Amino acid sequence: MVREVVIIGSGPAGYTAAVYTGRAQLAPLVFAGSLSGGQLMLTTDVENYPGFPEGIMGPELMENFRNQAERFGAEVVYEDVVEVDFSSHPYRVKSASQEVETKTVIISTGASAKLLGLEAESRLMGHGVSTCATCDGFFFRGQEIAIVGGGDSAMEEATFLTRFADKVTVIHRRDALRASKIMQQKAIDHPKIEFMLDSAVTEIFEQDSKVCGIEVENLKSGEKVRVDLTGLFVAIGHTPNTQLFDGKVELHDNGYIRCTDGSRTSVDGVFACGDVQDFTYRQAITAAGSGCMAAIDAERWIEHQGN
Ligand code: NAP
Repeated sequence: MVREVVIIGSGPAGYTAAVYTGRAQLAPLVFAGSLSGGQLMLTTDVENYPGFPEGIMGPELMENFRNQAERFGAEVVYEDVVEVDFSSHPYRVKSASQEVETKTVIISTGASAKLLGLEAESRLMGHGVSTCATCDGFFFRGQEIAIVGGGDSAMEEATFLTRFADKVTVIHRRDALRASKIMQQKAIDHPKIEFMLDSAVTEIFEQDSKVCGIEVENLKSGEKVRVDLTGLFVAIGHTPNTQLFDGKVELHDNGYIRCTDGSRTSVDGVFACGDVQDFTYRQAITAAGSGCMAAIDAERWIEHQGN
């Protein structure tokens, strides 16, 4: 049996593509991965997803996405795809237990925020640790927080976070920032932003399962200080989950999938949506929107092929 569409990835982009292709009677097969649900599974309250005026928990939102996709006939498999073959049509997608043939593939494997690798970091994600200032800044009104990183994201997010927090400390591992001069200057000039350069966060302290402080080491002097705060934002970059597709579809220099004309990749009949092809907006709602685009593009592609 040759499938109409296989969707790889189960964040807002993948499940939205599943809702749309399901409703188009294409009976999508979703490889949700062993860690299904994407980055929203790592957050608590989501307050910027339209349609939920009181907010919704990230995992609950993803369960809603999945239920909605299944309601329209999506088949969800909780396995990682281990190999794809786009060299001949129909395409082949392989997981640990099965290999399927499909007319179209929608790639929505997302991106992963890089983490510092501290023991408490993942456990306190959504409880004081965050990788998304746009999503979580609002929860830190009147509080003291820190952001790790020296790139444009760290500067942009530090500046954004001053809308809510009383004080934002930027912690960067070198004495020179990587960010563009204009974004650096904006952060440097901001009265609420302070810098700890040549420094690394070496420990996160918690109270009642929430962040209450961090230990920061000066990498030149070796001196360690405790900083009391309630929020730690990690902005040290993202890695697109494109390892499977390297050499199979065209990627940008930064490793994200290159899309043209909507969601089309360099391979006819293979589409991409969500953070795996978006290094600019990276929001759940933009991912969902692009999932809808990929579904419509795939449906039209199948129709156009007349098969
Ligand atoms: P980035 O430019 O790669 O910067 C990552 C920062 O995190 C660097 O300062 C790096 O330090 C630091 N870092 C990396 N690994 C670390 C670790 N393990 N521990 C501590 N620090 C670590 O990433 P980004 O800021 O997310 O930006 C990504 C791309 O998007 C860039 O091209 C950027 O220009 C663009 N962007 C543009 C805008 C805008 O124009 N509005 C906004 C956001 C992002 P080192 O400097 O020492 O390597």
